[in-house]
Amino acid sequence: MDDEYWMRHAFALADRAEREFDEIPVGAVLIGADGQVLGEGWNRNIADHDPSAHAEIVAMRQAGGALGNHRLVGCTLYVTLEPCAMCAMALVHARVARLVFGASDPKTGACGSVFDLVADPRHNHRVEVVGGVLGDEAGRRLTNYFRAKRGRPLV
Ligand SMILES: [Zn+2]
Repeated sequence: MDDEYWMRHAFALADRAEREFDEIPVGAVLIGADGQVLGEGWNRNIADHDPSAHAEIVAMRQAGGALGNHRLVGCTLYVTLEPCAMCAMALVHARVARLVFGASDPKTGACGSVFDLVADPRHNHRVEVVGGVLGDEAGRRLTNYFRAKRGRPLV
């Protein structure tokens, strides 16, 4: 199934964040209307000294450059963790058609958990959302990242 295929691709990008940059392992890939990869990203906040360098923003920025357009019409963003408020609003601004995420984020998730910014009828664009794709694995990966940092056994 395509959604699981691309979620696994996002997992691989998250692994790079952790392995190569010691960043929180969140990965994102943006797929164009014709099924082509337009942008890939992982968290780069620490490496780039950039508070806005979440995986989703990095992928969207790359896709905008690839398309030569700030609007990412008809695109689908796959991300391993539910986007925060900043990334949710960037998805709305970019007119992304569809969002697929893995683990829900009960602390800062803005796509249904704490806020629901991508579906708010007061915005001039709404994003179709599918959450929980390979969600258990996505959640376990993040849990284990933080457990390993604290020297605790993995789950
Ligand atoms: Zn974010």
